[in-house]
Amino acid sequence: MEIRKENKFKNFFKRYGAIALAGVFTVAIALTIALTVTDKGSEVSTTNLDFQVPMNNAEILKDYSDTDLQFNEVLNRWEIHLGIDFTSQDTAVFSVLDGTVTSVSNNSLEGNVVEITHSNGFVSVYSSLADELLVSEGDTVQKGTQIGNASNTAGREVEEGNQLHFVLLLNGEEVDPNNYLDLQNK
Ligand SMILES: [Zn+2]
Repeated sequence: MEIRKENKFKNFFKRYGAIALAGVFTVAIALTIALTVTDKGSEVSTTNLDFQVPMNNAEILKDYSDTDLQFNEVLNRWEIHLGIDFTSQDTAVFSVLDGTVTSVSNNSLEGNVVEITHSNGFVSVYSSLADELLVSEGDTVQKGTQIGNASNTAGREVEEGNQLHFVLLLNGEEVDPNNYLDLQNK
């Protein structure tokens, strides 16, 4: 009985071995292609999410806080600060990721404001920029493209001097940029 079983097994492989091997190879190739494609996808999104700090040698003037009320002397009221104020000797302001300029505007409280929409639900907003902006609505920018210069155009924070009020939105909500920008190695 044992021998017959073994023979049956051998016969099975003689008949179907080649087909089985071809099947295994097909699955292996399909898996390799699938993994390669998935890998490329994740590579792209990882690169996109490697944020650049928006100014060179940036110092934080006022940090993000969604709980601490800070008194705004200009507006004479208590506010939370849902962004980070950066300053630097070098006033150049850069896009933190690849993206598209989706809004350029101006108002007396925030000054010149540039909004850049990125992939993965992120939008970065740069306020208190100088009048000479280097981008327009609809422009495609790379991570590190200079969009303008930090200035004191934001009436809300005019006492801070030349600064960038930087806001990061994820799916429409302000998030703490400290969780995304590598401020230790800037
Ligand atoms: Zn601010």
